[in-house]
Amino acid sequence: MTPQRVFITGASSGIGAALAARYAAEGATLGLLARRRDALDALIAGLPHPERHRAYAVDVRDHAAIAAAARDFLAHAGGIDVVLANAGVSAGTLTEYAEDLPVFDTIIATNLIATAATFAPFIATMKAQRTPARLVGIGSVAGIRGLPGAEAYSASKAAVISYCESLRLEMRPYGIKVVTLCPGYIDTPMTRVNSYPMPFLMPAERFAAAALRKIAGGSSYAVIPWQMGLVAKLLRLLPNCLYDL
Ligand code: NDP
Repeated sequence: MTPQRVFITGASSGIGAALAARYAAEGATLGLLARRRDALDALIAGLPHPERHRAYAVDVRDHAAIAAAARDFLAHAGGIDVVLANAGVSAGTLTEYAEDLPVFDTIIATNLIATAATFAPFIATMKAQRTPARLVGIGSVAGIRGLPGAEAYSASKAAVISYCESLRLEMRPYGIKVVTLCPGYIDTPMTRVNSYPMPFLMPAERFAAAALRKIAGGSSYAVIPWQMGLVAKLLRLLPNCLYDL
């Protein structure tokens, strides 16, 4: 496979770090973005060809800083093949408590608006390249089914799914594929903070391997682990367009 130029947000831990490791093993040149520079530097030091990769210590709510990182990476890598808007936050929110409402702003800004802010600075180059580039959004099974006690998070992920579907239709004439990954219960720091036990967590490395196949194949949607899609289908819980079986 031709070595790829890949930009990943939220690369300092969990799913983003696992995706970075998998792409690096395939020979990719990476642009890795998160707030914690020390974690990004440590990750890059352990990857093959660390000198190829760039770290950007940026908060995804700072759209100008994302655009600057994108410009630097495009100049460094000479183009772009895959952009993964993976950075995300989760927090319990209960609408009945007024003090939880400001948390909605943080979650929507980080999960939804930053997805658009991450894609935006790469689109002109992708159109000009006319190579089969990919924009990848991270939804969630919570965005399809809902998750009690995490209303802001579920709403943000439902919005990411809807946003990516509209963008997919808009980008189709340019040969740019928009892929929405919908993880369900992956073993990462995000799921480990839960105070209750979460059975059937999938290792982030296995998720990343499946995700790379779906991204390369240009799937519109992928529910990973796929068994969650099967269960949902059997129970008739998902709308047709979201099956990935
Ligand atoms: P982690 O908490 O392990 O990783 C989240 C990443 O996002 C970190 O690298 C963090 O880096 C980064 N991040 C968070 N806020 C910001 C910010 N404001 N600016 C820049 N970077 C930020 O979670 P996961 O790996 O589990 O989650 C990755 C994605 O997958 C998220 O979008 C999540 O919603 C989604 N997902 C996860 C599921 C799971 O079961 N784990 C299920 C469904 C979806 P830093 O702190 O250094 O900024």
